Amino acid sequence: MAEADLRPSVAASETGDPLLLTPGPLTTSLSVKRAMLHDWGSRDEGFLAMNRRVLAAIADLAEAGDSHVAVPMQGSGTFAVEAMIATLVPASGKLLVLVNGAYGKRALAICARLGRASAALETPEDRPPDLAALERALADDPAISHVLAVHCETTSGILNPIEEIAARVAAAGRKLLVDSMSAFGALPITPAAAPFEALAASSNKCLEGVPGLGFVLCEKAALAAAAGHAPSLSLDLADQQAALAKTGQYRFTPPIHVIAALDQAIREHAAEGGVAGRGARYYENCRVLVEGMRARGFQTLLPDALQAPIIVTFRTPVDPAFDFQRFYDGLAARGYLIYPGKLTVAESFRMGCIGRLDRADMAGALAAVDAVMAEMGVAAGAPA
Ligand SMILES: *Cc1c(COP(=O)(O)O)cnc(C)c1O
Repeated sequence: MAEADLRPSVAASETGDPLLLTPGPLTTSLSVKRAMLHDWGSRDEGFLAMNRRVLAAIADLAEAGDSHVAVPMQGSGTFAVEAMIATLVPASGKLLVLVNGAYGKRALAICARLGRASAALETPEDRPPDLAALERALADDPAISHVLAVHCETTSGILNPIEEIAARVAAAGRKLLVDSMSAFGALPITPAAAPFEALAASSNKCLEGVPGLGFVLCEKAALAAAAGHAPSLSLDLADQQAALAKTGQYRFTPPIHVIAALDQAIREHAAEGGVAGRGARYYENCRVLVEGMRARGFQTLLPDALQAPIIVTFRTPVDPAFDFQRFYDGLAARGYLIYPGKLTVAESFRMGCIGRLDRADMAGALAAVDAVMAEMGVAAGAPA
């Protein structure tokens, strides 16, 4: 279908709110929001059953039900990443972080705070990790016990080659931790194809729930061996899991409404065809967005082969009439919220493809881009 045949730019979610072209929090369905219109006690069997269902479904999405267990962690995604590192990297271990964006850097900052030894293998934000350098780093430093890789680096939108990374880490006899926050649920990842000791993600990205719950899929044996490792009480996944296994309950107040919304969101994920169905819609959103923006002269940071269908970075146009704040405000006034750039390598802005959006919404966003460009007097989006 041609872009022009799609719905025009009267943007609003089912609740009349602007559409969030941002990578989480993102636009959720009305039915997901409605799932929160109740109160549950934290010991209520209805809630406990819902919680068990959600955690089992998460393990199933990674086809990891026998080897791994999904451990929830209250908070945003970073809480889950920090809990994963705190629990699974022992005081005697060392974490090698593959850095090509802000989330890799954040993992290093977490190590510094936790007092865990770390090292970085960095590539520019528009380049995947160097696999030969990874092999060398693992061969050269026997102290490295774990490697952390970011599945989709949301900073740029790059898709890192997680299976190739996992194969090298496994071949070197080390353990892999994955930050799959912005990919899990839309891009496939399984321990069979990409052996991982643990993977962190959250309720509010490709699963299209609301923010407030992170989770870590942990290898059962590794989690059992990690009892007492974490230098934090609230972020101790081994302790969290021990309590859940024993009583079915959280140690501390669970984000009940977030879990109720996630339960509904996972039902809608299954109805859409699971990971493949969700991924297909995002790929189509990304295609419409990228083709449309290129037709207007904009340039993506990444070549198509490196682009994940999650969020797209566009270089800032060279036309001096282009002003990001006016661009942002003009799109917001038309019902589309976008993201500023987060790059160090180039001036840029970002538009997300995830959430309860389809290609008609992306075509609407493009029509709004036309209107705002005309308002600013910018003829084309070409960068320097
Ligand atoms: C969103 C995200 C996180 C977590 O961010 P929060 O703001 O704490 O939810 C971590 N890693 C990646 C790659 C992300 O996209």
